[in-house]
Amino acid sequence: MKLTILGSGVTMPSLTRNAAGYYLKIGTNHVLIDCGSGTLRQLLKAKVKWQELDYIFISHRHPDHITDLMAIMHAIYVAGHFNNQRIKPLVLVGYKGFKQDYHYFRQATFPAGRESYSIKIMEIKQSAKQFSSWRVRATSVEHGGLEVNAYRFEHQGKSLVLGSDCDYNQNLVKICHQTDLAVLDCMMPIVKKLPGHMSPKECGQTAKEARVKKIVLTHINPKYDNINLKKQAKKYYQGPVVIAKDLMTIKI
Ligand SMILES: [Zn+2]
Ligand SMILES: [Zn+2]
Repeated sequence: MKLTILGSGVTMPSLTRNAAGYYLKIGTNHVLIDCGSGTLRQLLKAKVKWQELDYIFISHRHPDHITDLMAIMHAIYVAGHFNNQRIKPLVLVGYKGFKQDYHYFRQATFPAGRESYSIKIMEIKQSAKQFSSWRVRATSVEHGGLEVNAYRFEHQGKSLVLGSDCDYNQNLVKICHQTDLAVLDCMMPIVKKLPGHMSPKECGQTAKEARVKKIVLTHINPKYDNINLKKQAKKYYQGPVVIAKDLMTIKI
């Protein structure tokens, strides 16, 4: 597996940290996890062919995680008018309520168009699914009462967790169990802790309890870029800590 961080930021606009988005090359598949505003352009910067995505996973309906979904669907659709017609199917996977949200957004943005390829829309909650050579598991995590999925991807004996937006919670600890890499929401430093998100303390505690091999702190408010979040996390977790940057790639 190879992960590319497309957006390590939050909902506030930033020139250095795009809203949430992660590209995962897993086996022969091209997978996008979350697509906040700007993700389509970040895919270009990462030299990923946005027309070739096989799966798009959405963690929750907040704009910094879903806004570019319709932008991507529309771009693929319009590209079809310019001799770039997509044939291969696309699978969209989301949280409980995602199907309804998808149809709502679609109806509101470009209802008349009809795709040249098949789209499968799925919701998963507290369950696992096998897709070609890899497996994904979803669990609900605590984010102000909203339906939010954390996802764990497994391929050839390696695993990766994308925790999405959440506060410290046991479901997150369980899904992170002994994972090779956990990408965790670390929106603010310890002294500015807000409910529904984690500070380096909760990220470190989660990683320690789950015996995670390596963590990436992401979903960082650029306002706190001058604070040493890594040092704060290291007080609670002895393993390697990486501060996410846009377009950073990590092999798992
Ligand atoms: Zn959120
Ligand atoms: Zn967010």
